[in-house]
Amino acid sequence: MKIDILTLFPDMFAPLFQSITGRAVEAEKLELRVTDIRSFSQNKHKKTDDYPFGGGAGMVMTCQPIYDAVQAVDPEHRARRIYLSPKGRTLCQDVVRELAGYDRLLLLCGHYEGVDQRVLDLCMDEEISIGDYVLTGGELPAMVLCDAVARFQPEVLHSADSVAEESFSEGLLEYPHYTRPEEFMGLRVPEVLLSGHHANIAKWRREQALRITRERRPDLLGPEAASPPGRHAHSD
Ligand code: SAM
Repeated sequence: MKIDILTLFPDMFAPLFQSITGRAVEAEKLELRVTDIRSFSQNKHKKTDDYPFGGGAGMVMTCQPIYDAVQAVDPEHRARRIYLSPKGRTLCQDVVRELAGYDRLLLLCGHYEGVDQRVLDLCMDEEISIGDYVLTGGELPAMVLCDAVARFQPEVLHSADSVAEESFSEGLLEYPHYTRPEEFMGLRVPEVLLSGHHANIAKWRREQALRITRERRPDLLGPEAASPPGRHAHSD
């Protein structure tokens, strides 16, 4: 997968070139290209923002540098073009899986009060929000999106099971994990995990996933599953 990121702050993307995503870039499983919108500004002072028509607080990113940057990196509109915005569709694991299916993404990071609507209407396919709160810029949301979709690319994670089994993959939060030692500060690892009995381990993990989801995110479960066993209302 290839991801183009358009931003006024390219240095903010250093974390993506570390750890698992960094290794994916090195191994060419993921291509990340960060483009500085300011370098496309035709203004003699390289300005990229201006006062909002109609008044109001803050500055608005202007059309020209963004339009030209989009044309330069994706002239034939091959990429799914996304503006990171609190007004967008909320990112969740299903949306991540959907976006991970594209060969190319183009991510536009806003700043200040946002971006002139006309360049969004002309160039973008959709808007994505990472949650119901407002950040200073689209750079952190773009990094969140890149990290999440990278995990779905072949050979980026060591085991394909990681994405298949973890939280949200089956509409459940994940079961708890334990590693060595078997006892720490008087707390023992659940015996079933030491038993080597794969069917019992799978059953225990499923029960734990259901319990945790019921306690923390009952909204993820259907109305039947959301109440603990034995407490379903009888309809007869
Ligand atoms: N005035 C805008 C509004 O009220 O919707 C908020 C602008 S915000 C201060 C600046 C930029 O940060 C936005 O253009 C967007 O790119 C990004 N941003 C802020 N919060 C975000 C969120 N929850 N999800 C995605 N992007 C966000």
